[in-house]
Amino acid sequence: MYAKVIVDISNNDLDRIFDYSVGELSPEPGCRVAVPFGQRQIEGYVIELMDSTDCPKEKIKQIISIIDDYPVITKEMMALMYFMRERYHLRTIDALRLFIPTQMREGKVKELNRKYVSINMEIAEPRKLIRESAQMQLNAYDYVLKRGEVPLSELNANCSSASVRNLIMRDIFRVRSVEVKRSPYNNITLNDNCVELTDDQRSVVDTVMGSKGKTFLLHGVTGSGKTEVYMHCIAQILQNGKTAIMLVPEISLTPQVLASFRSRFGDRVALLHSGLSAGERFDEWRRLISGEASVAIGARSAIFAPLQNVGLIIIDEEHDGSYTSESNPRYITSEVAEFRRSYNNCNIILGSATPSIESYYKAMNGEYVLLELKNRINKRPLPEISIVNMCNEIYKGNNGIFSLELENELHKCIESGDQAIIFINRRGYSSYVMCRSCGYVAKCEQCDISLVYHKEDNSLKCHYCGNTYKMLSACPKCGSDQIKRGFVGTEQVAEKLQEMFPNETVLRMDNDTTQNKNAHFDILRKFATKQAKILVGTQMIAKGHDFPDVTLVGIVDADMSLHFADYRSVERTFQLITQVAGRAGRNKKLGKVILQTYSPNHYVYRFAVNGDYKHFYEKECNLREVTKFPPFTKIVRILVSGENEQDVAKTLQGIYSKVKLLNEYFVFINYMWAPVKVIRNMHRAQILIRMVSMEPIKEIYKIVDEFMIQKVNIFVEINPNNLS
Ligand code: ADP
Ligand code: ZN
Ligand code: ZN
Repeated sequence: MYAKVIVDISNNDLDRIFDYSVGELSPEPGCRVAVPFGQRQIEGYVIELMDSTDCPKEKIKQIISIIDDYPVITKEMMALMYFMRERYHLRTIDALRLFIPTQMREGKVKELNRKYVSINMEIAEPRKLIRESAQMQLNAYDYVLKRGEVPLSELNANCSSASVRNLIMRDIFRVRSVEVKRSPYNNITLNDNCVELTDDQRSVVDTVMGSKGKTFLLHGVTGSGKTEVYMHCIAQILQNGKTAIMLVPEISLTPQVLASFRSRFGDRVALLHSGLSAGERFDEWRRLISGEASVAIGARSAIFAPLQNVGLIIIDEEHDGSYTSESNPRYITSEVAEFRRSYNNCNIILGSATPSIESYYKAMNGEYVLLELKNRINKRPLPEISIVNMCNEIYKGNNGIFSLELENELHKCIESGDQAIIFINRRGYSSYVMCRSCGYVAKCEQCDISLVYHKEDNSLKCHYCGNTYKMLSACPKCGSDQIKRGFVGTEQVAEKLQEMFPNETVLRMDNDTTQNKNAHFDILRKFATKQAKILVGTQMIAKGHDFPDVTLVGIVDADMSLHFADYRSVERTFQLITQVAGRAGRNKKLGKVILQTYSPNHYVYRFAVNGDYKHFYEKECNLREVTKFPPFTKIVRILVSGENEQDVAKTLQGIYSKVKLLNEYFVFINYMWAPVKVIRNMHRAQILIRMVSMEPIKEIYKIVDEFMIQKVNIFVEINPNNLS
């Protein structure tokens, strides 16, 4: 018998699949094995068993051992591996590595065993074997005798550990090893306020549970009780003996959410989250693959949870950008979910208050089934959004960060004992250029997308076509020289607030303050328990949180995402405003939102203020159709990077000359240096394509393969989030 084995070697240009003989062993496909490789012994995965091999007999080596007592790659994951290899042009090993905890490879993390000591009862009179003078040993013996079975650590702490060791060696003591599973966030307080579903929620749950193999888009306004819908569906799935996966954006996996799931489902929930220690992650993963846990909750990568018999996949906040991975290996979470849906014939729920244009488009075209929750629980009103034109503030002589209206409302809110959230809209590190007097924004003449200021050559660039423009010295529309670029940071805003409210604690939540493992949990807990009245933050605070006493939300610079150089910038802005505004007035008190902008007449604000997703969608969709952006096209970027500028340029041109021959599928193709030309000494160049169908993608992969030379990296990205 022979096995095809994928060996786990990093930094390899090739997919390494080798034939080994299995010898006396009987590995199954999916097993992790130790194999000889050159002079070394390394890990690999059996992907296939065969009766014969084309390899010459004398070259065939034998598998050394099977590492785990179960296949670590399930049948479904094996099939998924083949799918991802095709779809994303991944190396086989890169796909496999997504499926198991990183630290498990090469045995960097192990089971945690606790040792228990008891007296060996098979000996007639064990105490007699100990000399009368060995007082310490007798003490240890009596200690165990009294308690029956004692953890070794406890015994060592109370008795001489040399004596204990001695007694173990002489087999007077027996040691039993018991595995303890490390369980993340075990100290969380449970809150089981199981509620009766409203009629609207009930009908959503019934529709989902009454179907099979469907993808639902659940469009429910903020505070409409989507989480409760998810939990009821999961409960039914478990009752049917199946399993479920729920994905949430990393930063919205809050203590509240966790507490609800833990109290409802107890140990059947396993958490996969980047905040876990390697040991916790490994244990949670094993609880899933062994069937001990049957619900996986986590961020993007939890879509690879090793569950069998999946009955439901939920992707909450489906519009969130974090569901597309931006580093290698690149994949699109919803596509992986679709694969698992069809493999298991289960349902998917994509939930959002602001579905992505692409998902809604699919719902309109019958690819997804649309479900709606139009009202907040108890018909609580959505907060009132008031738009402040910041151009007017300049005329009033106010050059500050806050408009007078926001300052007033802040004082009112804090003085009446309520809480406020101040949101700073900050995406990426690039910035747009804008006139502070009239709100003019520099845009690309061809693409109608905001230009990005590049400091290195003081220029403005379009990230979608590569056109470069000179930096403005005065506004081309009104002549003013009040040209603004850059943005205010959270730190600056927090300082200003501290000045305004010297007696209040101001919490700040952004990338800088959440580096530590539990930092974002801590900040949220402080705010939730009202240890602070003011929370300042970026996108991180926009998601899913449910703080009943927040009555005021201030959006400092709403235009930031609007003029972000991305075809989705308007969509993102709509989503952000709706999400942040959704934090206000979730309980009895009415909420108010102050939105500061230099473009008060932009259509996105009109629709957002009215909470009118549908008309926003129609308008945006029409624009996309005219400008030929997704969902009407797919954007493909071929990114070449390398240390040597010439190598990069030559490779890029070579690829371009071949790819452009496929242009019957393209509405746009061009090649250029990437907007950020050098990152960490790597020169970067790209081909941008917008194509009407995915048909040529295989051909593109093939061409790319021809040009894979040493020292140059080539990535093909489909609808990337970030084009810098
Ligand atoms: P969403 O995720 O749609 O923004 P949530 O699931 O956070 O909404 O629900 C908002 C609030 O309403 C939560 O505090 C939740 O506990 C509560 N809630 C949900 N469903 C019900 C219900 N059927 N009856 C009473 N309260 C509910
Ligand atoms: Zn102007
Ligand atoms: Zn352009």
